[in-house]
Amino acid sequence: MNEVNVIGHLINGEMVNDDVRTQAVFNPATGIAEKKVALASKQTVEQAISAAQAAFPAWRNTPAIKRARVMFRFKELLEQNADTICRLIGEEHGKISHDAAGELQRGIENVEYACGAPELLKGEHSKNVGPNIDCWSEFQPLGVVAGITPFNFPAMVPMWMFPLAIVCGNCFILKPSERDPSSTLYIAQLLKEAGLPDGVMNVVNGDKEAVDVLLSDERIKAVSFVGSTPIAEYIYATANANGKRCQALGGAKNHAIIMPDADMENAVNQLLGAAFGSSGERCMALSVAVAVGDEAADALVEKMTVAMKNLSVGAHDNASNDFGPVITQAHKDKVEGYITSAQTQGAKIVVDGRQPQVKGYENGFFVGATLIDGVTPEMDSYVAEIFGPVLQVMRVKTMQEAMQLINDHEYGNGTCIFTRDGEAARYFSDNIQVGMVGINVPLPVPVAYHSFGGWKRSLFGDLHAYGPDGVRFYTKRKTITQRWPSSGVREGASFAFPS
Ligand code: NAD
Repeated sequence: MNEVNVIGHLINGEMVNDDVRTQAVFNPATGIAEKKVALASKQTVEQAISAAQAAFPAWRNTPAIKRARVMFRFKELLEQNADTICRLIGEEHGKISHDAAGELQRGIENVEYACGAPELLKGEHSKNVGPNIDCWSEFQPLGVVAGITPFNFPAMVPMWMFPLAIVCGNCFILKPSERDPSSTLYIAQLLKEAGLPDGVMNVVNGDKEAVDVLLSDERIKAVSFVGSTPIAEYIYATANANGKRCQALGGAKNHAIIMPDADMENAVNQLLGAAFGSSGERCMALSVAVAVGDEAADALVEKMTVAMKNLSVGAHDNASNDFGPVITQAHKDKVEGYITSAQTQGAKIVVDGRQPQVKGYENGFFVGATLIDGVTPEMDSYVAEIFGPVLQVMRVKTMQEAMQLINDHEYGNGTCIFTRDGEAARYFSDNIQVGMVGINVPLPVPVAYHSFGGWKRSLFGDLHAYGPDGVRFYTKRKTITQRWPSSGVREGASFAFPS
């Protein structure tokens, strides 16, 4: 590897890099390791925690409206620097500029929500709950809290976490994905320019070694995690065992039901973007289309096959491309391995995206859009989350059968039904065992003023991410009951429980 930049950490407002260990950061379109990222040691993470701990007393006592003003300035800086952020996302993640812009916009919406901190933190008040007695609940910050984030949304997912945590009065340690850390780090640096005091926001790059310090150090009061299910489960169990509040969002297998009465043209258009956008590397990607009845299935496969001919896979900086490479060579091998396993286990590969030729990018980690028909529940490609541009079609006879498939799957992140029948749609949304439901909406990612979270093994914890649940996650309730007796009035001792 040639001499390359080493991406360090942001601690107490300064860039730091004293670590011995590093890891290559690839441009997935060229397949070249263009940079290196420092992997934080225990000492580096502890340095970040100490900085956050030192910043906490003053930040906690900063009025909520002043904390919110930092977020107003931060939002403007994100918009002014959007091109740089999207370029950094493209160079390390590979997603096309329009997709990166969409991700950034959804992150900015979380910042906008955080700007409402004075309203969000007003608490609850009841006057005269007893003679001369008032009662109120307030929401106090937890202290130093941590976020651990995945590679697939290096801008948006961190912004599900730190803007809200910070306006609630906490100090934050972020451990981004080591595979595409630059856009995340750049965004965090903008916070300083927005006027955030040093130490309130810190970024440590690294791997398991850094994560394990965040999970064990008693100064960390809460951990938000987004990533794959095995790691989410580990994070949740370890954080809980160490007495920390934790929300850990995991993997997914999102099904779309295609009802016989669906507007098929619309369903196909929606499925194209939801299955292949961002190379299928979205936790809300629709990766399974369950067609009710052979007629619907045949029409779906036929129209998808035609529409997929127009898709173009390529590098991030050509906006005419629909999606880019997957994140690593190992991930490309894994995705293509699942396509092969589906074929071996009896499914039909209708459109085969293995080993696509992308001119000028022969060493990139590309997988073309793939359509597989005749998938059945026991196939490995159905059981696992593939996280690639692969749409699998399953054929069932009834809507009940389709819903049973979804309810039986270990994941329960997102789902969607395509139909013109309001009664069927209502029954579906009432009874499906999934956290986020779309009705003719393929990617039902909740807006910033609702909350995001799956069911079953897609989320470990009680509170969903961002929105109202985010405020609850990053605060602890304190309830104060106060009496100021009228002058001259004295009460005698009472041994009955106060009522
Ligand atoms: P990942 O689980 O490999 O990594 C996520 C984070 O955990 C990274 O910061 C990584 O450094 C850290 N990590 C990895 N191995 C670890 C270990 N052994 N111990 C401690 N920390 C470890 O996930 P990824 O590949 O970066 O992201 C893709 C996954 O994330 C997919 O499964 C996707 O569905 C999921 N995801 C879920 C959501 C959601 O909201 N539910 C959103 C985005 C992504």
